[in-house]
Amino acid sequence: MVNNQKNESFAKAERLLEVRHLRTYFYTPDKKEIPAVDDVSFSVRRGETLCIVGESGCGKSVTSLSVMKLVATPPGKYVSGEILFEGKDLLGLSQKEIRRMRCRDIAMIFQEPMTALNPVHKIGAQIAEALMINEQVDKKEAHERAIELLAMVGVPDPARCAASYPHQLSGGMRQRAMIAMAFSCNPKLLLADEPTTALDVTVQAQILDLIQNLKEQHGMTVVFVTHDLGIVADIADRVIVMYAGRVVEEASCRELFSNPLHPYTGGLLKCIPRIDDTREFLDTIDGQVPIPANFPTGCRFHPRCPHAMGICRHSAPEPVNIEGHSVACHLYARKREV
Ligand code: SF4
Repeated sequence: MVNNQKNESFAKAERLLEVRHLRTYFYTPDKKEIPAVDDVSFSVRRGETLCIVGESGCGKSVTSLSVMKLVATPPGKYVSGEILFEGKDLLGLSQKEIRRMRCRDIAMIFQEPMTALNPVHKIGAQIAEALMINEQVDKKEAHERAIELLAMVGVPDPARCAASYPHQLSGGMRQRAMIAMAFSCNPKLLLADEPTTALDVTVQAQILDLIQNLKEQHGMTVVFVTHDLGIVADIADRVIVMYAGRVVEEASCRELFSNPLHPYTGGLLKCIPRIDDTREFLDTIDGQVPIPANFPTGCRFHPRCPHAMGICRHSAPEPVNIEGHSVACHLYARKREV
């Protein structure tokens, strides 16, 4: 009993971030409810890389924006749930308090740096501003450190990059500048929202290597949002799969790829071409992700699922834990009963 309590408190200490039953909804002008993130729970241990995967429109980005408390309210609303960072509920903090935590505790790399960077300020000034606000250094020191950070992320001529506007840089250089800004205050948690989607494959590989190296050097925890399972296989320790605003599966990376349980995860994996492929055509998942205003009842995957049963149409499956591998699907409900 005492040992169990010790293990539980140790496990809690190891969790840097814990999202519990988070619901982030949006409301249209005609009061229609859009449940973009609906009862999502997961945790992230210190030092690990957790990947959140799923097709576009599954709620991955809204989940990561919710952790940063960057969802515009209105039209968005944190309807219920908790986001515990080192045990502190971020949803209960004021904007002033959360602003103090951004960059220093939690930083984010956005998908498209051209829209995340301010187009009318030079790169160096934008990085220096984060340092002046969060590290209380003067303008000169902040500027010097901005150049050092650009050098750290592999920018070939960091002084010139610092003196450039975002539009004067290539996509890869802009993303490196975003990473430099995210790392400027050495955050404990880095959220990366599809940071390589807009880049070509060579630059994508360089950026992934850079994030991995910096993570290891700084002992950082990473939540990486992507729809690319190739990236997941490369970098993830654990994976959660989202579909239509809900988590449908969670497992270690190795377990997920070797033994996918949810029909949606299985479908996603079958879509990937393999080097020993003998298929004439790649598999696809029939249909499309439903729009959040019209999520189906029951299991939201049922209109696309080849294993759908009667119960799937009206009853939403609860997550079932099978030896550390969690899946929300009625096919496994009997295992929970056992
Ligand atoms: Fe398919 Fe039913 Fe499982 Fe949903 S609950 S994934 S519809 S079998």
